[in-house]
Amino acid sequence: MIYFDYTANTPASKDVIKAFIDAEQKYIGNANSKHPAGKQANERIQEASNKIANLLNIKPNEIVYTSGATEANNLAIKGLVHANKHKGKHIISSFLEHSSISASLSSLQEEGYEIDLCPIDRNGKIDLEELSYLLRKDTVLVAISAVDSELGIIQPVKEVYELIKKQSDSYLHVDITQAIGKIPVDFNCGDSFSLAGHKIYGLNGIGAYIKRNGITPIPQISGGNSTTIFRSGSPCTSLIVSLEVALENILKNQKENNLKVLHLNQKLRSELMEIPEIQFNSSGYAIPYILNLGIKGIYGNYIQEKLAQKDICVSVKSACSSDLLPSKPVYAITKDKKRARESFRISLSPLTTENEIEILVKAIKEIVEGETL
Ligand code: PMP
Repeated sequence: MIYFDYTANTPASKDVIKAFIDAEQKYIGNANSKHPAGKQANERIQEASNKIANLLNIKPNEIVYTSGATEANNLAIKGLVHANKHKGKHIISSFLEHSSISASLSSLQEEGYEIDLCPIDRNGKIDLEELSYLLRKDTVLVAISAVDSELGIIQPVKEVYELIKKQSDSYLHVDITQAIGKIPVDFNCGDSFSLAGHKIYGLNGIGAYIKRNGITPIPQISGGNSTTIFRSGSPCTSLIVSLEVALENILKNQKENNLKVLHLNQKLRSELMEIPEIQFNSSGYAIPYILNLGIKGIYGNYIQEKLAQKDICVSVKSACSSDLLPSKPVYAITKDKKRARESFRISLSPLTTENEIEILVKAIKEIVEGETL
């Protein structure tokens, strides 16, 4: 099998798996318990939080561990606006967001919140002039991703944050699930952030919500006292340790990984250019890890299916979105429904080899030739 869907999931690294197993064997107590076994687990979680805080340049008590980025986004969005009802009921987001953001917003819309989606330009970047126009006195939250999962576009988060703070009383939540370990993230340019271990060679089932500037969201999971008041339940010490190791490794290797993946991306693009029907949807502002593209006249689903028959994994949209609808981000930049249906996503990793790219390109060419015969 050849894998080109690292945006949806990455394989856990050996370091991460070892750290997880060691911690699982060593810390047998519930970190919420007051006896020595509980205290040991609790102390290990504190140690992990200190390390992560150090890596990210934040404070340990600003980290709330979650099951992943979906839960973190739900807490960030619903928890924050419910805690700030007095500020207003207007929320701004974008057309590029993951379903955990857009579905959280849809559920708030049913409660009477007013949602505006900020237009993006032809390159997929948030249009700051439009954002400025949309910001209101009663805007309580702006929620965007630093890098979206379909096109991989890097957003001008600093400029967005500065504009919001200059013009309104609103908070900014930034989904950094696809950004962390790939681009620099400034935790001073946002009020909260979400990330997940399984996108950075960590494990599924662990993520983090990072809340800054003293914000206190209403917990979305009710229960008893835990290591944090913002998320009840017994914390999983070993998963938290696994996140610490995954973050440490991805940040340490960021530069080297980026160079390697940029080279792979350039090779992929240049070889695909030989196909006359090719259309690239990811602009020059995309991270090299994500290439969204399409073949004129062939639906993305069809390409995915045909590649799957050759044991090659690519994705059509993000793994959590509905298969039946055209890609929203591709439609948002192209305003072309057909092109949005033709799109699919290839995602790369430092684990990808040049040989794998050659096999993929050959397979795509064969599919295109089969269709045009
Ligand atoms: N946000 C973004 C940008 C994502 O790419 C994803 C995963 N596809 C999520 C949120 C949801 O993450 P999780 O799978 O950890 O719930």
